[in-house]
Amino acid sequence: MNGMTAVQVEDCVLSPSARAWSAMEAAAFMTELRSELRSAGVFRGDALGYWLRGLWVLGVTTCVWSAFVLVDSWAARMTIGALAGYIGVQASAIAHEAGHGAVTRDRKLSWFVGRFFMTFVIGASYSAWVRRHGAHHIHPNSRQDPDVRPSFFSFNETDAIAARGLAGWCTRNRHRAGAACRCQAWE
Ligand SMILES: [Zn+2]
Repeated sequence: MNGMTAVQVEDCVLSPSARAWSAMEAAAFMTELRSELRSAGVFRGDALGYWLRGLWVLGVTTCVWSAFVLVDSWAARMTIGALAGYIGVQASAIAHEAGHGAVTRDRKLSWFVGRFFMTFVIGASYSAWVRRHGAHHIHPNSRQDPDVRPSFFSFNETDAIAARGLAGWCTRNRHRAGAACRCQAWE
């Protein structure tokens, strides 16, 4: 792998005296890594796995929403609500993986799977998500990443220093509102 073993790569990352790679070295490393992963079958689709997972998600979704309509008890509805949240995350994960071409290499089929699980099952716009998620992967966790734009919480030093009012208070106290932060980060 670019003449380096995994241990040597780790040493480069960890050692403060290690020389930073040039853009060409990094690009060559990525090309070689991608080809190794391709030969190891990492990018091969798992059609049967996604069929089974999709059917499981659809089955549980149908049961959960039917139960929500049929059940009368408050406690049972709370449990069903938690299950609906869980299965919604599973459906979103399938749509996300379809968006990355992991479900199938066929672009039209990927769009169908993504739209079906995100727009139809979850009720969120798949097209809007694709635009936003593309921008996230181009600038991950930077100030250009739409997923970490500041609102009540800031995700980088510049935004945290600039945060005022309620946003400033939330940013300074985010360690106390860990659950809320996690919810926003997931979004
Ligand atoms: Zn992604």
